[in-house]
Amino acid sequence: MTDRRNLDIVIAGAGAVGALLGHALAMRGFEIAIIDAGSGDQQASVRTSALSRASLRGLSDLGLWPLEGVEAAPLRALRVVDHSGHGRLSFDSADIGEADLGVIVNHGRLESALRAKAQVRGVSWHRDHADGVELGDAHIEVIMKGGGRLRAPLLIAADGAQSVIRERLGVAVLQYRYGQTAVCADIRLEHAHEGVAWQRFLPHGPCALLPLPDADRASLIWSTADYEARRLQDLSDTEFTTALNEAFGDHLGRLEVDGERAYFPLVASHAQHYVGARFALVGDAAHRVHPLAGQGVNLGFADAGALIAALNAGRARSADLGRRRTLRPYERERKADNLAMLAATDLLNRAFRDDRAWVRAALRTGLNITDTLPLFKTLFMRAAGASASRVAYDGHPGP
Ligand SMILES: Cc1cc2nc3c(=O)[nH]c(=O)nc-3n(C[C@H](O)[C@H](O)[C@H](O)COP(=O)(O)OP(=O)(O)OC[C@H]3O[C@@H](n4cnc5c(N)ncnc54)[C@H](O)[C@@H]3O)c2cc1C
Repeated sequence: MTDRRNLDIVIAGAGAVGALLGHALAMRGFEIAIIDAGSGDQQASVRTSALSRASLRGLSDLGLWPLEGVEAAPLRALRVVDHSGHGRLSFDSADIGEADLGVIVNHGRLESALRAKAQVRGVSWHRDHADGVELGDAHIEVIMKGGGRLRAPLLIAADGAQSVIRERLGVAVLQYRYGQTAVCADIRLEHAHEGVAWQRFLPHGPCALLPLPDADRASLIWSTADYEARRLQDLSDTEFTTALNEAFGDHLGRLEVDGERAYFPLVASHAQHYVGARFALVGDAAHRVHPLAGQGVNLGFADAGALIAALNAGRARSADLGRRRTLRPYERERKADNLAMLAATDLLNRAFRDDRAWVRAALRTGLNITDTLPLFKTLFMRAAGASASRVAYDGHPGP
């Protein structure tokens, strides 16, 4: 049966991006319903997300930072080393006159906290799977697996990389499997991390350790070839610990795996359109990038900021929220940025896996040159933050 309440927007999916959007739009007085299948990602509690300073500013504008129940570890510096250990690149927050480059948070806790905030904002919540869509003249209707239907002028698909809504709407998507899997786990360190994240580029992919709130704990994101990940999956904790120490080196002393490991197959994807008649795609439903730069959530939050701005502008001129013309500014603002990040992470990932001697030598030189030119490095760091620096939730009335 169709719920005929006067909804402005239905959001399918309440991961970090959909939940944030639900909260922010409800705060601006839009009538919002969220359909969420529940935490499909059981492994989200084993992995972390790096949130950029721009994302934190955006969250703070919404009264969402600090976020109850989400402990954050400041990220003060990043050290990148290549496989040989010769090429080395450092980013320090002091180089840009900031206290940190962002923070590291537990991804599962971030999602839960944002969902709770959206719920207390009065978003109507439907624990179900969005399964189909029917397009009308002045509305779009979403059909849920449980049989219910919701109708609104606009549907936002925030249902992640395998978006059912994107598929039902017939939006083409370019998808590329990296042939890599990210292995995630909590790690106990012999030496305190001092707020420094390390990333070592190995022949099968990058192995990163991100600082956690405890000084002697870090979060592992080890991207490696699928077959290698399968081998690691079969190892006992002791064997895995040995393999990790060999791969990562002794930058933080002896490493011990602590707790369960989770495995994420890595895929890059990009939707041909982010908007169309009565729909908009955001976050991983629109684009998915390699996690080596820790940007997926940040790009999704920046999408949310741009979409909110477009919807506010539309409402200010009494435009139909679901019209392509209302939504186009969002797509125009975000597509180039997301594609640039997709291309940059893809290139880095491929380049470091290339075992031709001249490519390796060029990369080593590149890392050292970058490290020795402070001005270039500062620009590089600003650019790294810039992708999310447009996370601005304009016209917010305050928490
Ligand atoms: C190993 C790894 C490390 C990462 N590290 C970082 C990092 O450091 N920093 C960073 O910014 N990003 C990182 N990312 C990327 C980041 O996790 C994603 O970009 C982000 O979670 C995408 O959020 P989302 O809300 O768009 O989608 P999702 O998190 O996929 O959420 C989708 C939601 O929709 C729901 N859903 C799905 N289908 C339906 C349906 N049919 N009906 C209703 N609901 C549905 C799901 O249950 C879920 O709640 C990492 C990713 C991986 C794999």
